[in-house]
Amino acid sequence: MTRDQEPTRQLPRPAATVLLLRDAANGPEVLMLKRSPTAAFVANAYVFPGGAVDASDTLALAHVTGLEDQQASARLDLPEGGLAYWVAAVRECFEESGILLAVDAHGAPVSAERAASLGVHRAAVNAGTLRFGALLEQEQLFIDAHSLAYFAHWITAPGRPRRFTTRFFVAHAPVGQLGSHDASETVDSRWISAQDALAACARNEIELVHPTRVSLEEIAPFERAEQIIHFARDRTDIVTNKPCWGVGREGKKLFRRGMPAYAEIHWCDPHEHGNTSYELIAGVPKTLDAYVTRLIAPNPGFMTGPGTNTYLVGTDAIAVIDPGPDLDAHVEAILAAGAGRIRWILCTHTHLDHSPAARRIKAATGASIYGRPAPDGRNQDPAFAPDHVLQHDARLPIGPLTLRAIHTPGHASNHLCYLLENTQMLFTGDHVMQGSTVVINPPDGDMIAYLASLEMLTQLPVTVFAPGHGYLIGEPHREAQRLIAHRLAREAKVIAAMQRLGPVDSDTLVAAVYDDVPAKVHPVALRSLHGHLGKLCVEQRVRGDASRWEWIPSHAEKH
Ligand SMILES: [Zn+2]
Repeated sequence: MTRDQEPTRQLPRPAATVLLLRDAANGPEVLMLKRSPTAAFVANAYVFPGGAVDASDTLALAHVTGLEDQQASARLDLPEGGLAYWVAAVRECFEESGILLAVDAHGAPVSAERAASLGVHRAAVNAGTLRFGALLEQEQLFIDAHSLAYFAHWITAPGRPRRFTTRFFVAHAPVGQLGSHDASETVDSRWISAQDALAACARNEIELVHPTRVSLEEIAPFERAEQIIHFARDRTDIVTNKPCWGVGREGKKLFRRGMPAYAEIHWCDPHEHGNTSYELIAGVPKTLDAYVTRLIAPNPGFMTGPGTNTYLVGTDAIAVIDPGPDLDAHVEAILAAGAGRIRWILCTHTHLDHSPAARRIKAATGASIYGRPAPDGRNQDPAFAPDHVLQHDARLPIGPLTLRAIHTPGHASNHLCYLLENTQMLFTGDHVMQGSTVVINPPDGDMIAYLASLEMLTQLPVTVFAPGHGYLIGEPHREAQRLIAHRLAREAKVIAAMQRLGPVDSDTLVAAVYDDVPAKVHPVALRSLHGHLGKLCVEQRVRGDASRWEWIPSHAEKH
């Protein structure tokens, strides 16, 4: 199908929804409405009150206090028009539940009696015969924007009959206003705790769509409504949830944020054609974008996942990043995909699954090899002979593109990441992998250096990680932070186990510290355990060797 023949893709409409919260004996409850069986969008599901932003919502902006449009837009990461979402949340809440999140000219909340008397206007506002702004004007009421805290952002998957880009808010329910469904769009309403709603859904008693379920899961741990509002207010990391479609051997599949292929599908298919592959197949070149093609080597395994990723970067002249293992099929596939254009060969490091094919690619193409010499040690490619040794921050022009070397010791002392400055894609080699934890294997592996190198990535202008194994990884700064937190949590486990067990050998310690992974992984985990212990030894918190590790109590712990 050519692009001209495609059906017009539906753009999502702006919408707002609000989780109205009140404290009950067993914790916070949220107002949920059941959508009518004939509703065009999520029929029968229990949802929070909400709906599409209306053109008339901007007319009510004069009755919003507490936030300017510029601040509201910044909060929603929009160029402008953000404050209308606050209005839409309040208006839809009034239309669908009868609850009016408004204050009078003195800042006092609308009382239950007044809200009830204003109920006569619900139908008119709903029908559009009375503008919400006009109602606020007539009643001299105001929306206090601070009473609604922005909480989450969800976009409906492409291909659905109706699509919305919905901003979720949380707010305290006004005291005394209980609300009621409108008996047309919605046919039932209930105040329910997040746990009870999730349990009812699990028992198939009520239906919840995915964003509703995730929102309930997020608020479920809190004990008071106030805590949820604070959580939302303090949230600096609200990320768009935008499901996407990919194709593969199992047919067309939907991918949500958090699933391994999600970021890669978005990167490869920014216009939501839904025709990019969700599979990792060795030997088949995958075009990731205008500049980058990935070839997976046929070396799948415990340490290499689906196989080593080789990247071809450029247009008329190509750089090969991580040529991979010296396997005939892989070398031939690289030469075929590069088709006479390969000028540079860049290696992230010299483990045997990353650099050995460099020599044959060079022999076949005359390309120059870039990287850092191999250190001593097992699993190293001692014959690796770079024509050019790259220093940190070295820039290499690749035709019209620029690759910048970023020295990232930790997994390997000679490890480099490469930043394609034009798209801010970072080729991470084994510094960051998708789908498994990087092994830090001393003496060449160094946990202190590894954490510092991850910290450095959080300061780099990066939009996506292209790892040495697995799919592209989105939200790279968050991922780097997550990896740091994961290592520090593991370190805390090492310390706790040593304090509990007393002097201990490595085999006993690995079983205690890695009790959350299968025992067959323990031999590999042992290497990373030694990575942690190496760091703790340098920090003078631990001493010893594999036969006997001993915790050194700090001054504070002795007294
Ligand atoms: Zn490696």
